[in-house]
Amino acid sequence: MSDWVMVLSEGDRTAKKIHRCDECLRKISIGESYHHEFYVDGSYSGYHKTCQHCMAIRQYVLVHINDTFIYGQLIDEIGNGPMESWKDRLMYAGYRRQWKRKDGKMWKVIK
Ligand SMILES: [Zn+2]
Repeated sequence: MSDWVMVLSEGDRTAKKIHRCDECLRKISIGESYHHEFYVDGSYSGYHKTCQHCMAIRQYVLVHINDTFIYGQLIDEIGNGPMESWKDRLMYAGYRRQWKRKDGKMWKVIK
């Protein structure tokens, strides 16, 4: 693995089948929006799918914490920090619960 991946194409999609978020590892349900990226990393290419909840974390991290992140380790940017703000703690808690409430419903996307 090189230090940087090159994203060749990306966009938001609506799931026509069940996918898995490559950040929180939860199932992305049919009909749910997610972010899709096709990337190259050295001689390896692959797809990275991110649920809306984790995309909100990505936006937050890129604006407030770090100007970069590693695929699959996005939450570490928050979890390894001091978690001083309520938003840090809320995003970290939601991620750890894979965005599911105790009653089984999904959390709202944190903005
Ligand atoms: Zn996710």
